[in-house]
Amino acid sequence: SPVVELRDVSKTYPPTTKGGAEVVAIDGVSLTVDAGDVYGIIGYSGAGKSTLVRLINALERSTSGEIHVNGQDIARLPERELRPVRLGIGMIFQQFNLLGSRTVAANVGYPLEVARRPRDKRTARVAEMLDFVGLSDKARAYPDQLSGGQKQRVGIARALASQPGILLADEATSALDPETTHEVLDLLGRVNKEFGVTIIVITHEMDVIQTLATKVAVMDQGRVIERGDVFDVFSNP
Ligand code: ADP
Ligand code: ADP
Repeated sequence: SPVVELRDVSKTYPPTTKGGAEVVAIDGVSLTVDAGDVYGIIGYSGAGKSTLVRLINALERSTSGEIHVNGQDIARLPERELRPVRLGIGMIFQQFNLLGSRTVAANVGYPLEVARRPRDKRTARVAEMLDFVGLSDKARAYPDQLSGGQKQRVGIARALASQPGILLADEATSALDPETTHEVLDLLGRVNKEFGVTIIVITHEMDVIQTLATKVAVMDQGRVIERGDVFDVFSNP
C-alpha cells in the first residue's frame, strides 16, 4: 500500500527579482511510493528534487495537488497537525547537519528530546541505534572528531531514533568518497530490510540509484520524465 502518494502536485515560487518570472519548481508530479520501497529520485541540479523532499516532509506547502503521507493528505493540514507527520519521517542530509556542540549520543537522542520522551527510554534507544550503526564506542565523541562516513552513520542513527516508517535521504552520500558511499548505502539497505523502513533517495548520482534503489523516477525541469523499476529504466537504449 502507498505510504507516500503525490497527485498532480505543483510548486511555484514567486519571482526572485522584481518583475522577474515565477519559478515552477514542481510541475504536475504524480508519484506513488509503496511500503517497503527503496525509491530513487534522480535528476540534474535544478530539476526540483529538493523541493519535492521539502513538500513530502511538510517543510513547504505545495501550490496545488494532494500529498498523502501514511494515508493522510498533508497538503492542506494546519501547521499544528504537521508535527506528528514530520515525526514519522526521518531525514538525512548531504552535510549531515549534526550539532557540533553536542556529543554523538546527544545528537542521536535529540529528536527524542524534542518529542519529550523520558530519559531512560531515550538512553536505551540511543544505545540501540549507535549499536546498529556500529558507533557505540563514539557515543561521547563530538562530530568534528569523526570521519564523513561516521558522521553520516550518526545522521542515520538520529533519523531513525523516533522509529519513523519513512526515511528521506537528500544527496546523503554526495559529500563522501566512493568507498564510504558504499558503506553508507549498505547501511541504508539494512535499514530497509531489517526495519522495513521505506526509503526515498534523492540524488544526482546514477550509481547510488543502481546500488540501492529498486524503483526510480527521473526528474527534469520539475516533471517526472521517466519512471519504473531501476533495471528497466536504465537498460532502455
Ligand atoms: P509518464 O512517464 O508519462 O508518467 P507512465 O506510463 O509511467 O508515463 O505513467 C502514466 C501515468 O500514470 C502518469 O502520468 C502517472 O499519473 C501515472 N503513474 C505511473 N506511474 C506512477 C507511479 N509510480 N505513481 C503514481 N502515478 C503513476
Ligand atoms: P534540485 O534539488 O533538483 O537541484 P530544487 O528543488 O532545489 O532542485 O530547485 C528547483 C527549481 O526551483 C530551481 O529552478 C530552483 O532555482 C528553484 N527554487 C528552489 N527553491 C527556491 C526558492 N526558495 N525560491 C525560488 N526558487 C527556488
